[in-house]
Amino acid sequence: MPEGPSVRKFHHLVSPFVGQQVVKTGGSSKKLHPPDLQSLWLQDTQVRLVLHFGGGGFLAFYNCQMSWSSSPVVRPTSDILSEKFHRGQALEALGKSQPVCYTLLDQRYFSGLGNIIKNEVLYRARVHPLSLGSFLSPTHLEALVDHVVEFSTNWLQDKLQGKQQHTQIYQKEQCPAGHPVMKDEFGPPGGFQRLTWWCPQCQPQFPPEGPHQP
Ligand SMILES: [Zn+2]
Repeated sequence: MPEGPSVRKFHHLVSPFVGQQVVKTGGSSKKLHPPDLQSLWLQDTQVRLVLHFGGGGFLAFYNCQMSWSSSPVVRPTSDILSEKFHRGQALEALGKSQPVCYTLLDQRYFSGLGNIIKNEVLYRARVHPLSLGSFLSPTHLEALVDHVVEFSTNWLQDKLQGKQQHTQIYQKEQCPAGHPVMKDEFGPPGGFQRLTWWCPQCQPQFPPEGPHQP
C-alpha cells in the first residue's frame, strides 16, 4: 500500500494533465488495450502505459496496476493530507476499544496512512501499538492525531523537495534515546498482519496486559 505522501507527490507530478485529451497511446498492458484510451480525457490519475497529449507532453507509467473505474472516489474528510480532514471523526475512531495500531491503518478514518506513518506517529506520541484506544487519555489521542497530520505533511514537503524523510523507529534497532526496539507483526484477527516496531520504554502499554501480551 503506497503511503499518502508518495501518492500525493505522484499526483502533484501528473495533475497538469488532468482535463486533457489523449491524442495517441503507446506501451503495452495485459489488463488494458492502450489504444482504447485514445481520444478519452484524463479525469483523474491512479495509475505500463504511455499517454500522449496535445502540445507534445506525455506521461509514461511503470510498474502500475490499471483498471477501469466509474468515477474517482475521494473522501477528503478521511484524507490525512486534506485541509478537510475530520479530526473529530478520527479521534472517535481512535478511542475505540481496540489496539490503536489497527485503527491507524483503517483507511475509512485515516486515508493515506500506511505502515511507516503508523510506526512513526505511535513512537512520537509515546503510545504502545497495542494500547487500546479506550484506555488512552484525550491528550494522548489528540497527540496521535497531531503527529499523523504533522508527520505526513512534513514527509510530503520533503518528498516534493527531493529530500529523504528520516524515521525514528521504523526498521530501527534502537530508539533515539538508545533503548532496544521490539518488532512483531500486529493486525486484526483474520486481517492483514503488519510489521510493527516500538520501544517498550518510551511507549508503555495501556492497559499493561494487552490482548496480545504473553
Ligand atoms: Zn526508547
